[in-house]
Amino acid sequence: MSSLKWLSFGIGAVSSVVIMLLVLLISEAGGSLAMSNLPMMLIGALVGGFVIGLIHWIFMDQLEKETANAANHVEQLCHGKALPGEYQGRFGLGVVLEVIEQTLSSMSQRQEELVTKRKELDIRLRLAEAEQKHLTSILDSLNDAVVVTDTFNEVALANAAAEELFHFNLDKARQSPVDHVINDSALTTLIKDTREGNRAVRKRRLEQRIQQAGREAIFDVTLSCVKEKMSSQTESSVALSDESASGVVTILRDITREREIAETKSDFVSNVSHELRTPLSSIKAYMEMLIDGEAQDDQTRAEFYNIIQGETNRLSRLIDNILNISRIESGIVRVQREHISLSAVIKEAVGIMLPQARAKQIELVEVPNPDYFQVFADRDMILQCALNLFSNAIKYTDVGGRVSVSVGVNEGARMVTVAVSDTGVGVPDSDKPHLFDKFYRVADHKNLAKGTGLGLNLVKHVVETVHGGEVGVESKVDKGSTFTFALPIADNG
Ligand code: ADP
Repeated sequence: MSSLKWLSFGIGAVSSVVIMLLVLLISEAGGSLAMSNLPMMLIGALVGGFVIGLIHWIFMDQLEKETANAANHVEQLCHGKALPGEYQGRFGLGVVLEVIEQTLSSMSQRQEELVTKRKELDIRLRLAEAEQKHLTSILDSLNDAVVVTDTFNEVALANAAAEELFHFNLDKARQSPVDHVINDSALTTLIKDTREGNRAVRKRRLEQRIQQAGREAIFDVTLSCVKEKMSSQTESSVALSDESASGVVTILRDITREREIAETKSDFVSNVSHELRTPLSSIKAYMEMLIDGEAQDDQTRAEFYNIIQGETNRLSRLIDNILNISRIESGIVRVQREHISLSAVIKEAVGIMLPQARAKQIELVEVPNPDYFQVFADRDMILQCALNLFSNAIKYTDVGGRVSVSVGVNEGARMVTVAVSDTGVGVPDSDKPHLFDKFYRVADHKNLAKGTGLGLNLVKHVVETVHGGEVGVESKVDKGSTFTFALPIADNG
């Protein structure tokens, strides 16, 4: 039994007492109070109190049932098992329930909206993540370094090339000030200036030198202002449509090699022209002297003819070098192999170079060598290699020096080797790895003699690419150099 129902007994008891008191008061006031009426009055008061208590009990019972019904209905509504308006309540509970129903229905509507919004946001988030992954993989596949900074000049995005160039890790560097991440004040100033400067200039392109691995590299830098992506916008807008705050996309392309090649090419053109002009002028001068009859005796004429022949050979060597390198590189070279004695080819080369050596008072010595192994090679090409090595040895050796050549055999490796040694200027250690590169010339030697940087490259191509041999160099600055090449001994050689 509930406390409200217990209350009915209390109310019944109190009502009996009140009725009793009321009857007593009325009787006394009317002067009709008689002791004989007292039991009747007591019974009447008790019956009256009992009836009131009973009525209260019945009412409370009904109210309790109604409240339980209403609570049950609200619970059913909450779980979606009942329909709104299904419950017609008594005691005014219907109105209360109506309000509760409306509140519940607007709450569930709001909840549905929120669930839909959340799903939408989930999808957007997943799309954004996929988009970012896609963008990152595109950026990472670029060789150019890309750094994106935001309104606060903080790093927002960068690709792998940028991480490598500036030695940082994007995960740690994200949202850090760009000048804490990129250790190049000139570049970071440029980035800030681009963002803060005149917005009309949305794209700047310039050349910037940046220290990289201990050397200065040249970069082609493009800086573009970008409008920051608003949450309501779906596509990024690179073009600025208003004066809104912007970030900067910086793209850096290493053009050091391009610059070096351009420089080398222009050096090459000027050197080749010089190399062509020098023998040509000499040939022209001696021809004119011969035509004008300035060589009056046979000995002078023979001397002039020799000079003309030597210069013509020099010219054709240069042209052969250029043509052969390009033929070997493009794979269209015609190789005419035969069994040859390297000693014989070297002897011929010495004969050709003697006048050039004598002109510089350089002693050109051929060390006696064994002649019993042959190689299977293209004679003209090998002769050209020997001539290039002799020509260099003479060019880079001071007047009065010595150049010697020897042919040896490495029976273990089954190779015949040729070594051309000189007492010349030598090659610094740092240049040795590049000596056989195309167009490479030792910087310190450029004033000593003109050249094209093709001679040794051709030797390497002919020996290694065409004949499967090997080239090498040993050298000490101011002491001299020994250039070697080795060719496989012919099978039946
Ligand atoms: P070049 O036409 O410049 O002589 P090469 O390819 O024949 O071109 O040689 C490349 C460079 O190697 C030369 O510029 C020179 O600096 C260096 N070199 C070649 N031979 C010698 C040598 N015997 N002594 C010193 N340096 C040499």
